[in-house]
Amino acid sequence: MSDLKPCPFCGGAAVIEDGENFLVRCNTCHATTCDRSSERSAIYEWNTRTPPKVKPLEWDGRDITHLGSTIRSKGWLAEYFITKEREDLFALYWGEQNGVELGDFKTEQQAVDFANADFKRHVLEALA
Ligand SMILES: [Zn+2]
Repeated sequence: MSDLKPCPFCGGAAVIEDGENFLVRCNTCHATTCDRSSERSAIYEWNTRTPPKVKPLEWDGRDITHLGSTIRSKGWLAEYFITKEREDLFALYWGEQNGVELGDFKTEQQAVDFANADFKRHVLEALA
């Protein structure tokens, strides 16, 4: 009877736990609903839950046309750096300019998209 939607935070599968009350818990990130007196209301709460919207990163230094130039994300929690290493190679770093390399990308936009997705995942995991 349980048609539980995937976790709104991480996409993981969820299960119903029943004891004195009912709640739904994600198997992956352990996000839960509140305790509910009926299974139905726990499922309803889970299935209608929406994750908060995460604002995309903002970047300092939009100009990344020259080889070796770098743009840097502003904001709390994490800093990302994208350095143009060749015409078709943009390296994405996390933490500091030559910190943890998250990947190489053919375009600046691909690196920006990856950084935004990584940032969003960290924020949602922290909230779950
Ligand atoms: Zn989850």
